[in-house]
Amino acid sequence: MEFVRKLPIPMEVKEMYPLTAPMAASKEKTDIEIKKVFTGKSDRFILIIGPCSADREDAVIDYIMRLREVQEKVADKILIIPRIYTNKPRTTGDGYKGMLHQPDPHEKPDMFAGVVAIRKLHMRALAETGFGCADEMLYPANYRYLSDLLSYVAIGARSVENQDHRLTASGLDIPVGMKNPTGGDVSVMMNAITAAQHKHTFIFRGWEVNTEGNPLAHAIMRGYVNKHGQSIPNYHYEDLIGLAEVYAKSGLANPAAIVDTNHANSGKKYLEQIRIAKEILHSRRHSEDIRSLVKGLMIESYIEDGCQKIGDGEVYGKSITDPCLGWEKTERLIYDIAEQL
Ligand code: PEP
Ligand code: MN
Repeated sequence: MEFVRKLPIPMEVKEMYPLTAPMAASKEKTDIEIKKVFTGKSDRFILIIGPCSADREDAVIDYIMRLREVQEKVADKILIIPRIYTNKPRTTGDGYKGMLHQPDPHEKPDMFAGVVAIRKLHMRALAETGFGCADEMLYPANYRYLSDLLSYVAIGARSVENQDHRLTASGLDIPVGMKNPTGGDVSVMMNAITAAQHKHTFIFRGWEVNTEGNPLAHAIMRGYVNKHGQSIPNYHYEDLIGLAEVYAKSGLANPAAIVDTNHANSGKKYLEQIRIAKEILHSRRHSEDIRSLVKGLMIESYIEDGCQKIGDGEVYGKSITDPCLGWEKTERLIYDIAEQL
């Protein structure tokens, strides 16, 4: 290992790129609205929606501006939390690992430029659209670079069994979604929620810390891959009833689930997200248990349909990681969801 340079700590980066008072007010407002849904005080339906990876600032801000207009029209029924995913877990470790590693996907990794780029992107989103956004907490020690900006974090399918992620989640004051692991074991996800809801003492960034436990930690169903490498969905009626039963026995606070409509639920056939979203709405209408448990969806969506390889002739607003639903279909889908709730 080569030690390249010592990076500034989160407090120093926050001083270099400070939050303004209006930004802090927008973040607080967002946090309150989201909390109301997870504690059952509001029955608005959450959409955590946006590209698989936030690969370029201009297209991501353009996309979130569009979401803002739609949010105004469906505000009585839907609460949108844009996905700005700046650090990407990779199945084999190879490939684009997000804006944190490569602020420009065509250039070599530059971690300091990456920290600044992701902070600036989340700051712009909050300042220009008023949205507090979602990101994946891939590296718990990096969380505090963005802690004054984020309104939601997910722990990915490849991280959810990891103690460091679980304990850090227990110290956050925003909802943390625990994904089921890639192998599909729901008990691993439930154990992660239990760990995050409890108090802990541990070492974080060289400090001994105490946490209070996070009552807003909850489940995200993202499908799984079986031993034959096939994608198996877990968004169907029986899966959600099963989760409600597991939750009922668990004694956990604020039972809640988000269903991820892409990944192993769609087998990355991104257009299926439309049908999957509608099936979940149908299940919610059919069962009161599912209605109260399933608080929302996670949808992979961007400006253009599908995905593309990094390289020459790249299309603006088209994913360079998982395939996403394009803007026109996304807008239609959000209005359809609002109608069918
Ligand atoms: C994602 O949300 O883009 C992602 C990588 O999810 P998962 O951890 O479920 O694979
Ligand atoms: Mn993805």
